[in-house]
Amino acid sequence: MDGCLFCKIVCGEIPSAKVFEDEVSYAFRDINPQAPVHILIVPKKHIDSCAVLDGADEALVGRIFTNIAKIAKDEGLDKGFRVISNSGDDAGQTVHHLHFHILAGKNMGEGLVP
Ligand code: 5GP
Ligand code: ZN
Repeated sequence: MDGCLFCKIVCGEIPSAKVFEDEVSYAFRDINPQAPVHILIVPKKHIDSCAVLDGADEALVGRIFTNIAKIAKDEGLDKGFRVISNSGDDAGQTVHHLHFHILAGKNMGEGLVP
């Protein structure tokens, strides 16, 4: 989608630190890490957020979660990791291309919202 930051990262127009890629998804390191390990995984095709997912994307989202498990294994995240997807203003979504944060490398405690 024209003007979308993550579409530009997926196609290589904007450089990123790649972690993983397959036919449908791309994972890279967050530019402003919130934890020692902070990776983003996005679908290669543009989808605004979780809020607009429908049945047509079920296999894609399933594949992304399988890839998250692979990435966690490759990164040695055996002590655990957290997956977050912000959707919309109240969640603080700043890039309107569906993405899943993979956070790890420190004990994040039990609370989800600061
Ligand atoms: P959101 O707030 O939408 O859930 O997350 C967007 C994430 O994208 C933020 O964690 C932010 O640091 C990251 N980000 C924004 N611009 C760039 C960029 O140009 N490159 C990379 N690698 N990450 C970015
Ligand atoms: Zn996009």
